[in-house]
Amino acid sequence: MTKKRKCNVCGQKRPDWMYKHSKKKTCQQCEFKWYQRLLRLLVQNRKLTRWERFGMRIGYMGVGFLIAGQWTVNPLLFIAGFICVLIQVSIRRQWNLVILQLNGLIAWTIHFLESLK
Ligand SMILES: [Zn+2]
Repeated sequence: MTKKRKCNVCGQKRPDWMYKHSKKKTCQQCEFKWYQRLLRLLVQNRKLTRWERFGMRIGYMGVGFLIAGQWTVNPLLFIAGFICVLIQVSIRRQWNLVILQLNGLIAWTIHFLESLK
């Protein structure tokens, strides 16, 4: 015979084995919900402002361009990549990286202009 207990969270009557021990008032199903953790993670991500999220996406795009550029040595890919990452690091206010991206941008623009001659 299984005794049923009422869970204090979901209010449903559940058998004993669904509780961790005899003094628990919350059933195990209510104690651990994987999607609650997922939601919590999403909420933490939502703390970024809209601009920061935009910058993050464009930053990943820029990194893609830079990776492609390093394999093809195409100045246009480098220029596009540096501009995208420049937007991200300026939103994040990481000025040392802004300097680095600006330097790369200027250098590759010069390479590109020289290759046109
Ligand atoms: Zn419950």
